[in-house]
Amino acid sequence: MDNPIENLVNELNRLPGIGDKTARRLAYYIINMDPNRVNGLVNAISNAKSNSKLCSICNNITDSDPCEICSSSLREKDIICVVENPKDVLSIEKAGRYNGVYHVLHGDIINSPDGDQKIKKLIERIRDENISEVILAFNPSISGEASITYISELLKPSGIKVSKIAYGLPFGSDMDFYDDQTINIAILNRTEV
Ligand SMILES: [Zn+2]
Repeated sequence: MDNPIENLVNELNRLPGIGDKTARRLAYYIINMDPNRVNGLVNAISNAKSNSKLCSICNNITDSDPCEICSSSLREKDIICVVENPKDVLSIEKAGRYNGVYHVLHGDIINSPDGDQKIKKLIERIRDENISEVILAFNPSISGEASITYISELLKPSGIKVSKIAYGLPFGSDMDFYDDQTINIAILNRTEV
């Protein structure tokens, strides 16, 4: 029969960034927690999952559609910052200086089977809304660079300004990694492509 503790360890171990040792430590921590706190944790996970959807405009994960950013009258709707992942939106929002809207691709477009579909949706949105600038904020990587080239080539004929953020940081790093000031400077010093 399955061992419940081993099951818990295995499930935790499948989460990103949780190695064997951490999974084991968390599993025993959870087992020793007060039952009410365990219920609170289970409910929080379950509620977050069932109340999350994708914004029909920007594809960000949200509990309301359109999301808070797309519905805000205070945001500059003619500037779109394109990111690979919802957590990148969080990083840029936390940094606090960007006031445009976003478009979330949900992963790499170059190596993804539905990459073309994602790009089509982005291009349609750029065409339908009155966009003056598209900022490509991909993590510095080979596929990120390839995505920048690909999208900027597609948008060139439209005459819309396309820029990429200026990281000056090594390839393979992740936006999570940067402090708020670095992100703000990267956006401020963006270069046209
Ligand atoms: Zn949205």
